[in-house]
Amino acid sequence: MLYSNINEINKNKKKIVLLPHNNPDGDALGSSLALLFYFRKLKHSVDLISPTEYSESFKWLPGCKDIIVFSEHTKSLIKKKIADSDYVFLIDFNNYSRINNIRDFFLYSKAKKILIDHHPFPLHFDFMFSDSTVAATSILVFRFISKMNNLDKIDKEIATCLYVGLMTDTGLFRFPSVTSETHFIAGKLIKKGIDISYIYNHLQEKYNENKLKLLSKALKRLKVIKKYRTAYTSIKASDVDLHSYKQGDTEGIITYGLNIKNIVFSVFFFEEKEELPVKISFRSKGNFDVNMFSRKHFRGGGHKNAAGGTLEKNLSESIKYFLNIIPTYYNNLMLSI
Ligand code: 5GP
Ligand code: MN
Repeated sequence: MLYSNINEINKNKKKIVLLPHNNPDGDALGSSLALLFYFRKLKHSVDLISPTEYSESFKWLPGCKDIIVFSEHTKSLIKKKIADSDYVFLIDFNNYSRINNIRDFFLYSKAKKILIDHHPFPLHFDFMFSDSTVAATSILVFRFISKMNNLDKIDKEIATCLYVGLMTDTGLFRFPSVTSETHFIAGKLIKKGIDISYIYNHLQEKYNENKLKLLSKALKRLKVIKKYRTAYTSIKASDVDLHSYKQGDTEGIITYGLNIKNIVFSVFFFEEKEELPVKISFRSKGNFDVNMFSRKHFRGGGHKNAAGGTLEKNLSESIKYFLNIIPTYYNNLMLSI
């Protein structure tokens, strides 16, 4: 950890770009927005750039209106911002596959690159705040601010953003990744005056008509393979009504399979559009490591119990490919506790 070196940021006004991953989740957005408010307080010039659109369920977060979302329209602005910046922060991801729209702008920028992330096996950057033992990147952002002796700069808005990161990446403080530090930080954030039920209610308001219709299609198609303690389902391009579909509408589908007794592995295949690739999400309970599984077979990654990947095959071929692999994991799945 190089917290001392990072104090060079504060020597004078800097241009900073904050970069969460594709389809940023509550932790990526919460961490990025917290840093946006924080660096603004320190009088730096800061931009938060999202490589893709993000879920409607986060649009209530403070600071969201300032996020620059990648599109044909914003592309040249984003290219310039990244090229001109002194520092680029990579937040809640650690490889280029998760920022593909802006990967090249990033690679050609002379900015110093700073990683703040909790995924295992990071690529190497100029400054590394990487710890795969923590439940959320928001914890590392809290540590980062703390090491700069700036905890007094955390106000209600910053605390709200960090708390959202904690809540969403810990499944509302339930996952095994939760430690006493998670609750210690949550306690510090609560002291900043955040409104826990307001935050909780907003995060729970996650269903709209379209989302429920997609969920019902996925549940009808749910398959359980008892022998391999596995459940899987899918959404096809023809299920998706592009007029009403919004990024994030399939979130949560994968958890239903995992809630079945004795099931330890849940898989969700998502064919968003007719074109490839198909996106695949993996969740597990216990010691079945879906990060390894996804790295090995789906060019993806993530955490031990939550990972994702992609496949350059159509939906039915993707499912076939998966069904061929799964028997080789019989022992791991049987032994998972
Ligand atoms: P989700 O299934 O929600 O898209 O992703 C679950 C977790 O898996 C994410 O938090 C992220 O850590 C990881 N993940 C998802 N998709 C990818 C991918 O394409 N590549 C890598 N390396 N990780 C992914
Ligand atoms: Mn995270």
